[in-house]
Amino acid sequence: MSTEVTYTCPECGHSVAVWGEGNPYALGPDGKRHYYYHPSDEDTIEFVARLWPETKGLTDSELMEFMRPQLGNEPDAYCKKCDQIFHVAQKGRTPACPECGSKQTILALNIPEKVCPKCKKGRFPKYGERTAIS
Ligand SMILES: [Zn+2]
Ligand SMILES: [Zn+2]
Repeated sequence: MSTEVTYTCPECGHSVAVWGEGNPYALGPDGKRHYYYHPSDEDTIEFVARLWPETKGLTDSELMEFMRPQLGNEPDAYCKKCDQIFHVAQKGRTPACPECGSKQTILALNIPEKVCPKCKKGRFPKYGERTAIS
């Protein structure tokens, strides 16, 4: 289950929508990350598992056991300059924005209570509003 949460600036009404759980993925044998989303998450994991030559002949539960270390989650980041939401592929640091190259990026989970980049007066609320569930 994934939830979209919208944070709206009380001063100017500017809003940012982020997915609560980030972007889960399964790693393929070629190093490619296959993102999966509810409700097709198990199908995707199984598909990726079958790409690995090591999984030949494994049962479903053995497959999942094998895949556990290959599963990860990319958090979302937010660019305060151009308002883009993008994936953070590497752990531990927030990269420059892929759209505009700005380094004024923050992790999406840090959006609550940050000063609104549009009006620079309001602050995003501590708790966003749930806008979609998939
Ligand atoms: Zn940007
Ligand atoms: Zn604002």
